Amino acid sequence: MQPNTLAIHAGYEKDEQLTMSVPLYQTTAFEFKSTEHGANLFALKELGNIYTRLSNPTTDVFERRFAEVEGGAAALATASGMAAIFYAIANCTKVGDNIVATDKLYGGTYNQFVHTLKRFGVEVRFFDTFNVQEAEKLIDENTKAIFFESISNPSIDIPDIETIVNIAKKHNVLSIVDNTVATPYLFRPFEWGIDISVHSTSKYVTGQGLAMGGIIVERKGLNEFLKGNDRYSHFNEPDMSYHGLVYTDLEFPAFCLRARLGLMRDLGSVPAPFNSWLMIQGLETLKVRIKEHCENTMKIAKFLKAHPKVKVVKYPLLEGDNNYANAVKYLKGGASGLLSFDVGSFDIAKSAIDRLKIFSLVTNIGDTKSIVTHSASTTHQQLSDEDLLACGVTPGLIRLSVGIEDVDDLINDLDNALK
Ligand code: PLP
Repeated sequence: MQPNTLAIHAGYEKDEQLTMSVPLYQTTAFEFKSTEHGANLFALKELGNIYTRLSNPTTDVFERRFAEVEGGAAALATASGMAAIFYAIANCTKVGDNIVATDKLYGGTYNQFVHTLKRFGVEVRFFDTFNVQEAEKLIDENTKAIFFESISNPSIDIPDIETIVNIAKKHNVLSIVDNTVATPYLFRPFEWGIDISVHSTSKYVTGQGLAMGGIIVERKGLNEFLKGNDRYSHFNEPDMSYHGLVYTDLEFPAFCLRARLGLMRDLGSVPAPFNSWLMIQGLETLKVRIKEHCENTMKIAKFLKAHPKVKVVKYPLLEGDNNYANAVKYLKGGASGLLSFDVGSFDIAKSAIDRLKIFSLVTNIGDTKSIVTHSASTTHQQLSDEDLLACGVTPGLIRLSVGIEDVDDLINDLDNALK
């Protein structure tokens, strides 16, 4: 079945009431039928729900559905995108290990990598997003993952993904992609051989800025890669915190299973069932929304490119963009809804943004409602002019997350603001 059919039907067998919508199980705990039943569930002799921190039937549908839409083997939903990224890294590293990552990342991910992971004894080594061969020199026997974003936020860049995956495979290292901006509709991580994808589902998946969430998905066949692999000995040795379980001895996809039984059990960044239910609603319409986001953004990119007051427009599928070749190679049917443009000065950017009527001034992306951000006066205000330039943030840079309103209205709004 195609992803858009799976997004509406996968992972849900209708219950006894033949309920059409996936029911919301807003509960903390689940009753055992007997002491024996409870004991069997704890000993993993029988599978079933115990406590929502470990599993919940509504979240389970979202996880199964999302995994199928992306073409993966299994998924684990988390309370936010940051939690998904942390769990994915924590699931393959320990003190003394390192990961290598592209230098163009979401700011929250960069902070987690540079500050929090460092305090936990995991080093992150960065390589140039436009020269990914550099990654190879950074890999050693303690490297546990190569991490990158398929379309980076906020810089809107697309790395040479095929080369990254080839380097990961050559060195037997897990590849992890943050596929938040592209979504499973625009970039298919497992068709390119990537091992793990992570997403902030707070963006395009929920779609209307309604709920925080994240998800980790693992590719089919990852157990064969992990089994007997010395880099990942903790997947091959008994887990004494779970009855001496050896994850790769089981038939279940081991990466998500270990993240659930170990990390989710001990750290607990679990999504509220209601948020999983909202994600299910969002996933059903993701395909049509993402198409609209892409079409609107392309039209706006062309309008801005022709505008006399606009110096530069950055959108990967705009001919001449430095990401154009990679966008054509890796993305299916569009480059998502992020676009940036430069109007030449801090003051012009500020007054244009203040005149916008439809675009909301918000630090979020992926909403049906159009969003504008001025990095120089908000997220990056404490940086010197020099540091701003190093991050690719010029004083006159305006970033848009284009929504799915009528595109002519959005263009008129921008045109008026730029007068
Ligand atoms: N990854 C990307 C690419 C993001 O843009 C974001 C948030 O903006 C995150 C991860 C973090 O997700 P969350 O805000 O759901 O924790």
